[in-house]
Amino acid sequence: MEYLDLSPYEYRSFPLPLRNVGWLGTEWGVQGVDLPPLAAADLQLLRSASRLLGSVTLGTHRCEFCPEDAAVTGNGEYRYYLLNGDVYCAPEMVLHYLGDHGYRPPDVFLQGLRETGELEWDDRAERLRKVLLDPEADLGFRCAAVVDLPNWRDARALDAVQFAAHDEELAVIMGVEIGQSLVACLGDDLRAEDYPSTIGYGIDHARRLRRE
Ligand SMILES: [Zn+2]
Repeated sequence: MEYLDLSPYEYRSFPLPLRNVGWLGTEWGVQGVDLPPLAAADLQLLRSASRLLGSVTLGTHRCEFCPEDAAVTGNGEYRYYLLNGDVYCAPEMVLHYLGDHGYRPPDVFLQGLRETGELEWDDRAERLRKVLLDPEADLGFRCAAVVDLPNWRDARALDAVQFAAHDEELAVIMGVEIGQSLVACLGDDLRAEDYPSTIGYGIDHARRLRRE
């Protein structure tokens, strides 16, 4: 999977328009490598923004710049909801490209990331909430919505995740993602025993990751 930075995301369908960053491959090489290296503060910003991993079932990507026997792989993608209303999507391997191959993301993306603050409930959040609550909606969309709604620290996001947690079918299909999102919304303020075992596993898993 290789895409030019800032091109529209078309890897698969998604309930919101996204732009690509960091989908590197050998056709275009390491994009941005000729620009000055990323400032340490920007690198830190990007690392801390890359925290909610979605779509982990999509399959594995291998780094095309490392020797084949190094088998550096990633699975899943990060989505970045910026205050300016844009959404960007990068493969999990973006952190490896930044650290090991001199990848530099485009300035327009970095500028958006530098605007920090709480996201206010907006059309993106409302679209994700509606998708999650709609039993007729595409399951992949609903799973993405469960993962991404905690980007908004808003009771409506938590309500929608709780709705999914108490839906028997969703609890089986996306228990890990629901568990991860409950931890993202509530931190330690929940008990794994109160949820079905598939979700309890997700809660324990997310807590382990937070401690690492
Ligand atoms: Zn590599």
